[in-house]
Amino acid sequence: MQLIDAVVIGAGQAGLTASYHLQRTGIDHVLLDRGSGPGGAWRNRWPSLRLGGVHGIHALPGSEFSETDGERPAAEVVAEYFGRYEHELALPVLRPVKVDAVRDGGERLLVESSAGTWAARAVINATGTWENPFWPHYPGQQEFTGRQLHTADYRGPEEFRGQHVVVVGGGISAVEHLLEISQVAGTTWVTRRPPHFTDATFTPEDGRAAVAEVERRVRAGLPPGSVVSVTGLPNSPAVLAARERGVLDRLPMFQRITADGVAWADGTAQRADAILWATGFRPAIAHLAPLNLRAPGGGIQLDGTRAVAEPRLHLVGYGPSASTIGANRAGRAAAHAVRAEIKNSLSHPV
Ligand code: FAD
Repeated sequence: MQLIDAVVIGAGQAGLTASYHLQRTGIDHVLLDRGSGPGGAWRNRWPSLRLGGVHGIHALPGSEFSETDGERPAAEVVAEYFGRYEHELALPVLRPVKVDAVRDGGERLLVESSAGTWAARAVINATGTWENPFWPHYPGQQEFTGRQLHTADYRGPEEFRGQHVVVVGGGISAVEHLLEISQVAGTTWVTRRPPHFTDATFTPEDGRAAVAEVERRVRAGLPPGSVVSVTGLPNSPAVLAARERGVLDRLPMFQRITADGVAWADGTAQRADAILWATGFRPAIAHLAPLNLRAPGGGIQLDGTRAVAEPRLHLVGYGPSASTIGANRAGRAAAHAVRAEIKNSLSHPV
């Protein structure tokens, strides 16, 4: 077991930002990341997701994000950028290291991982959501003889050429999948609620209002909900063209899955070779279970980035900070809070 001041778990936007500020303030720490290389969740995003097709990536602190070629895969560009950043700043990243559990070890938190255990005064959790795709359950799911996959498994449209794909979900990922797959295959789009397309530009005030709402939820110990989903679906030229082709004619959720497709309550059915669940992600925090953080409302109650039930733990890139800009702010706030706590605790060393 190694003694250390702080452990940061996850080297995405939030974890790298936290590590940058811990390093600047002289806090001895390690950054444990289960990825096989730099890039956080971005390195796993589907190759056909181009830089020009994402909302926008906020630069990491003390650096510039200067890539301008919107045609390059976002996964490749961000992995390169994060890799350069880690290297140039000599951040203490260890990978691949998977954290299996964080436990209360009395005076310190014990971080158990595939590379051993660290006993830390503070832990900053920055594990994102990518490792925890959300799959809803529908009757008949086991009977389907075609392929079921989630956005997390999607690699691009080619493998569906000539097939029929049912895309489930009302968010931006679902629309991106439909735009691509409909070029090579038949598609059906189903969502629980009618999707909200908008011409309006998303203003900074809208962003602040969305973050404030998620912040209110985590303060109250409720599950956070999504910051990025409130933007609505932009009416881009590609979306308008797809609508002309009928690709975005959305159907309500089916009632059940059959051996060869999906069926609605009114007796209509659609044959399908594949069902693509673009149904989002949940925080990847199974390793925090031993800390019993869940509030009665079902979420983790936070005060800023600090867990109310375990004040030595901070969550960043979680809830209100689950965007690249939010991750930057939260990583900084958590690192400064950890520094203040450690300075304080040095007068009572453990
Ligand atoms: P991640 O990037 O997910 O990094 C988490 C890291 O933790 C990963 O490296 C992972 O391997 C590691 N990890 C996880 N579990 C463990 C463990 N147990 N032990 C060790 N390591 C672990 N936001 C924007 O601002 N702009 C956009 O354009 C945008 N586009 C998006 C597109 C998609 C398809 C999705 C799903 C999200 C998008 N977002 C966007 C949201 C954005 O990606 C995230 O909010 C932000 O990048 C997440 O950063 P993060 O550091 O919190 O997590």
